Formats: sequence, C-alpha cells, structure tokens
Amino acid sequence: MCPHSPPCPSASAPDHEAARIVAGHPEQGWSLLCNGIVMFDDTGELLPGGDAIAPHRPTDLVPRPVPVVPPVAVAGR
Ligand SMILES: [Zn+2]
Repeated sequence: MCPHSPPCPSASAPDHEAARIVAGHPEQGWSLLCNGIVMFDDTGELLPGGDAIAPHRPTDLVPRPVPVVPPVAVAGR
C-alpha cells in the first residue's frame, strides 16, 4: 500500500504514525496515512483492521498499551 521508498512504518509498527499522509482532510478532522491508518485530529486513530486507538496527546511520548475499542464504539463520532 505504501508507495514510498524506503517504505513507511506498517500499521502494526510502533512508529506507525510516522507514515506519510496520502489524503488529508483537515476540514473534516482526519487524515489517511499511506499504511492505511486514519488519524483524527484529536490524535485518535482507526487501524486498517478496524481497531481503534483512543486519542492520545503528542506530549504522550511514552508508548503504552491502549484498550482496543470495537469499531461500533467509534461510529458515533
Ligand atoms: Zn509511505
């Protein structure tokens, strides 16, 4: 999916947020990364497999496990 060289981090990589934006919609508050992740401007993320990552602030630099939210839980955004 990623057309870049060297390839960007995959969606499952710890640094997946470093992937490049291939479709930005700041007016709608989300961006599509080239690894298939949809990143929201509240720093929440939607993974290609349908899993969601809860919003986390950029100041939150220490990686930590986040609860997996079923897609239905984020449908009402
Ligand atoms: Zn890429």
